[in-house]
Amino acid sequence: MRAAVIEEHGEPLTIQDVPYPEPQPDQVVIETEACGVCRSDWHAWQGDWEWFGIQTGPGQILGHEPAGVVADVGADVEQFSEGDRVTVPFHLGDGSCQYCQRGHANICETSMPLGFLDAAPGAFAEAFPVREADFNCVTLPDAVDFTEMAGLGCRFMTAYHALTDRADLRPGDAVAIHGCGGVGLSAVHIADALGAEPIAVDVQDSKLDRALDLGAATTINAAEVDNVPGEVHAVTDGGADVAIDALGIAETCRNAVGSLDKQGTHVQVGLTTDDEAGEIALPVDTMTLQEIDFHGSYGMPPIRYDELFRLIDAGTLEPSKIVGETLSLDDVPATLSSMGEYETVGIPVIDEF
Ligand SMILES: [Zn+2]
Ligand SMILES: [Zn+2]
Repeated sequence: MRAAVIEEHGEPLTIQDVPYPEPQPDQVVIETEACGVCRSDWHAWQGDWEWFGIQTGPGQILGHEPAGVVADVGADVEQFSEGDRVTVPFHLGDGSCQYCQRGHANICETSMPLGFLDAAPGAFAEAFPVREADFNCVTLPDAVDFTEMAGLGCRFMTAYHALTDRADLRPGDAVAIHGCGGVGLSAVHIADALGAEPIAVDVQDSKLDRALDLGAATTINAAEVDNVPGEVHAVTDGGADVAIDALGIAETCRNAVGSLDKQGTHVQVGLTTDDEAGEIALPVDTMTLQEIDFHGSYGMPPIRYDELFRLIDAGTLEPSKIVGETLSLDDVPATLSSMGEYETVGIPVIDEF
């Protein structure tokens, strides 16, 4: 089967012919119908993230935002069969550790993120295996199509968890969203749909225009103002209630924290780049004196899919709005390269393999 493979960090992915996966007893093999292309793929391809223990090596098939159809079923799998329309959360859990048992599989002790490790080849391929399939597979409602699901698969659900579970967003809250890539734009749309007031911050007008279409109340071009936090304070009359760093560089993280009102909540969603290597200096005394909360947020616990699907079914949330363009597998190497220059707008989704 065809797959997009890392040959060397930073060198274009190559489309290779690789063996079709055989399911282990706990696994299903899913035939890929759609898969999003994400900044996390770009990071892995660059060889980032060694500082927290993940290094995606040469030979890896990337791709962690899939939707597809079950094509083959391992001997121990009970709840899924051939032909089922499914998705999986990218942070594949083991289903048995204390976090999985308590409904927090996104922070599983032995999480095996799809498409980032040798043992979990990803979905930039015609098919891919899924560990602990009974635990990890999620049935796709008829109302959600494959492309939409791929658009939802990582950044949209990450933004949803960040805003609802980690920040406890309330209607009327001012939310400063720093970085308007896929996760940032998703956060703009979700915050607006939930009755909050998103302030979108980015350095590119094309992304800010998209944010306005998706419901941003205000936009700030960070390249055109001297003091981004000051600008957020000015437009929110005292600071944001919630701030999101949806990019993960020192500047957006500090700008996000600085844009908060007293007792505001920062949610860190973006993972850092080679420049920060996981460390960003923050004004902790100010944060202490102003009682500012700093939360991390990673993926979304799979038990939250039900609520997300219900809001999509009701028309409150429309993940398809964030899908930027659809591609074929052959386009992936070039699309990934263009992410180094932040050229993609919205979420690119592969729908041809
Ligand atoms: Zn992703
Ligand atoms: Zn677990």
